[in-house]
Amino acid sequence: MYNIKSQNATEFIDHSEILETLKYADENASNAELIDAILEKAELRKGLSHREASVLLACTLPDRVERMYRLAEQIKKDFYGSRIVMFAPLYLSNYCVNGCVYCPYHHQNKHIARKKLSQEDIVREVTALQDMGHKRLALEAGEDPVNNPIEYILDCVKTIYSIKHKNGAIRRVNVNIAATTVENYKKLHDAGIGTYILFQETYHKESYEKLHPTGPKHNYRYHTEAMDRAMQGGIDDVGLGVLFGLELYRYEFAGLLMHAEHLEATYGVGPHTISVPRIKKADDIDPAVFDNGIDDDTFAKIVACIRIAVPYTGMIISTRESKKVRERLLHLGISQISGASKTSVGGYAEPEPDDEKSEQFDVSDNRTLDEVVRWLMELGYIPSFCTACYREGRTGDRFMSLCKSGQIQNCCQPNALMTLKEYLMDYASPETRRIGEKLIEKEMALVASDKVRAIAAERLVKIENGDRDFRF
Ligand code: SAM
Repeated sequence: MYNIKSQNATEFIDHSEILETLKYADENASNAELIDAILEKAELRKGLSHREASVLLACTLPDRVERMYRLAEQIKKDFYGSRIVMFAPLYLSNYCVNGCVYCPYHHQNKHIARKKLSQEDIVREVTALQDMGHKRLALEAGEDPVNNPIEYILDCVKTIYSIKHKNGAIRRVNVNIAATTVENYKKLHDAGIGTYILFQETYHKESYEKLHPTGPKHNYRYHTEAMDRAMQGGIDDVGLGVLFGLELYRYEFAGLLMHAEHLEATYGVGPHTISVPRIKKADDIDPAVFDNGIDDDTFAKIVACIRIAVPYTGMIISTRESKKVRERLLHLGISQISGASKTSVGGYAEPEPDDEKSEQFDVSDNRTLDEVVRWLMELGYIPSFCTACYREGRTGDRFMSLCKSGQIQNCCQPNALMTLKEYLMDYASPETRRIGEKLIEKEMALVASDKVRAIAAERLVKIENGDRDFRF
């Protein structure tokens, strides 16, 4: 039985509720009257239920789909302005005891090099990431209680925050590690992590169990209830995601929104971010084996519908996607992207030797961070290295209520511009800097409060003169 507030994953992600939702969406896929009513509700920018959003995703009326895309773009502009938050993944270890059939880290894979970064390796990798200009990382690790216990992850977080190279600093460490206990989430929280990210992979329980045949990750409930435990452990920024290609995308979409609704109803705060990875080719993995792959048009429709359904939730796209796909999705709701990513364990400081490859999947966007930053600015976006909210304690419901009242805009725009200015001063090529300086001038005018704008202008001068790390 569907129960949004249940502590049992099979009740808050109730299979029959999803099937009924999909049936309802199919029956109404060309119901212009209902679709218009849903779009009108969506225009209020307060979000949609999984049923309403599923109707939009199923919608077959071209003019309504067009309206949906325009609305997604407008909501994106209203909530996020032109800002795009930048980050990079850092793979700590690819030792893994699970048997996930889509992931090259599965424990039977004997031909991938197994690696784990030592604290000295981390200093080298993070220094290289700082030298590119990164301020925000997402830590990634396989699940292995012996090789990657929580103490190891905590040591890595501590090391990363302690590294200060030239003007560099990693100011926010997000963590993507396997589902764990409330006690371990408390430890991650106390270590000062930003978002705890865990992809559901698939919300379809039967498929989930087949795709995760062995290892602790096999347990659907333990995995799906991880965000509840994270919240109970004090982490109030959590990041959801599904791996598109494993199951029917419409099923995943409904499940994802039901998960978001569950968190909002139970803890008063929905997910901080949603990621939308698609399966990629990898060592020992052929994506064609998974027959639920989605084309770029469907992918765009999913992103637009998520943006409309959960306007306050950040949406992340990684370098799994090409420059072309990323460019299209930026318009429709993406608010965070990675740049210059390596999916190998190590590889930022020095390239991996060919006979020791450890990467998780092929990346489609191989550009440097400077190239990605310049490209974003040429498209009219502000690459933002801001990490202010969580450092100012604006997390969970505090962050969400500021978002909902629109007040967050008075912080985000100047913070984005000040962190971009730091990037331009410390890391950008001359051409990127030239474009960036012009952009900052133009975008400063859009800081709504006169007082905040004046303070931000003073701080930009101070950054020019060598000061760093200002924030509202
Ligand atoms: N081990 C952790 C866990 O249990 O969730 C998470 C870390 S894993 C390095 C990060 C994510 O990469 C996985 O959750 C999965 O969705 C994604 N991934 C795995 N194999 C992939 C592939 N072949 N292509 C694209 N993404 C993949």
